[in-house]
Amino acid sequence: METNCIFCKIANGEIPAATIYEDEEFRAILDLGPASKGHALILPKQHAANLFELPDETAGKAMILAKKLAGQLKDGLQADGINLVQNNGEAAGQTVFHFHMHLIPRYSGDTVNVTWKPGTLTEQDKKDIMKIFK
Ligand code: AMP
Ligand code: ZN
Repeated sequence: METNCIFCKIANGEIPAATIYEDEEFRAILDLGPASKGHALILPKQHAANLFELPDETAGKAMILAKKLAGQLKDGLQADGINLVQNNGEAAGQTVFHFHMHLIPRYSGDTVNVTWKPGTLTEQDKKDIMKIFK
């Protein structure tokens, strides 16, 4: 556990939160500033600041848990869709530096904003990017 990490404290039960799921490795809670009704967060109990620090095994389990909880939220709240959002780094909108996955139920016509304005994939960008994966 990392001292001064609020999500370490919540995940490990030191600070109370509205828990919708708990096992040995994870706690899922309701977000205190929900984007929509049912907005939940999956927190690993072991501290990792972000995706880059997260052990592979935990990453895999987090996605399986996201699938399970997304289904329960969608059915239970009659949501029309669910966004999985996971921010890494301040530039990406991360404000709490303990890995977490957002589950955001979506309702037709809601005003939640997780969209962007599509740009254009240029030939130069494509070349630069493809190089990384060769
Ligand atoms: P992010 O911007 O991806 O780092 O998301 C952090 C999220 O944590 C935000 O949606 C906050 O509303 C939420 N949050 C911060 N503190 C708490 C807390 N004590 N309990 C529940 N959710 C929290
Ligand atoms: Zn932490």
